[in-house]
Amino acid sequence: MLSRIRWNIWDFEDIVDLLHDQNRVCIQCLNYPEVFEDLYEMVKRIKCPVSVSAQPFTIDEMRALSEHVDRLSISLDCFTKELFEKYKPFYNWDLHWVRMRKAVEIFGEGNVISHMIVGLGETEREAVVTLDELIRTGVRPSLFALTPLKGTALEGMPAPDLGTYRRLQMARYLLLERCIDKEDIRYDEDDMISSFGIDVSKTVDPEAFMTQGCPNCNRPFFNEKPGRTPYNFPCDISESEYMAIIKHANVD
Ligand code: SF4
Repeated sequence: MLSRIRWNIWDFEDIVDLLHDQNRVCIQCLNYPEVFEDLYEMVKRIKCPVSVSAQPFTIDEMRALSEHVDRLSISLDCFTKELFEKYKPFYNWDLHWVRMRKAVEIFGEGNVISHMIVGLGETEREAVVTLDELIRTGVRPSLFALTPLKGTALEGMPAPDLGTYRRLQMARYLLLERCIDKEDIRYDEDDMISSFGIDVSKTVDPEAFMTQGCPNCNRPFFNEKPGRTPYNFPCDISESEYMAIIKHANVD
């Protein structure tokens, strides 16, 4: 399983011919010694836009990948160094940042993604600081909601508060679109966002609440449960849904 999705296993040779006329293919890599060689053999043969989400590759590996891949995700997942060291002890926070900066040089600004999981223990203020740093580095953050699954180490943790998620979607949008500076955001005594200093209903586009990251990525039901309001809408949202979201975000 990856998040809530139980994936089927297919032989690459059986599906490669189907991958030429898709809007996008996303390859989420496991971390094992031969991963780059396996990945490179695959991406060379896929003739549609390809995203890769993986551990930080070396600079030479990233250069080679960039010939066949237009978007690369190097995921921090955690909003603070402390959380990163707790949940990803086999990686190095500083090296992730070094490789993300290098990846932006190689793939271009806006073509490097970092998946960020809301709900691992960060405050909204901490999340905003890292979102802003990623955006100023040229990286597009892609928000995910913590999805506690039975049988995993995080099964006892709650899914993130929807109001928090909405405010962070707004923060991401407003910072990315240069509508505000980080310093314009106000917080309450619990470091929750209380104001963006602007009228969000006139500034935040509905797309802010749709799945964000690479073009044509929608990840339907990746974090979502049927029957519950989605964290990330995998499709256009209606006006009434938009108004409900703005109300739920509860910012001045
Ligand atoms: S944003 Fe979507 S397409 Fe891009 S790497 Fe992440 S999951 Fe894949």
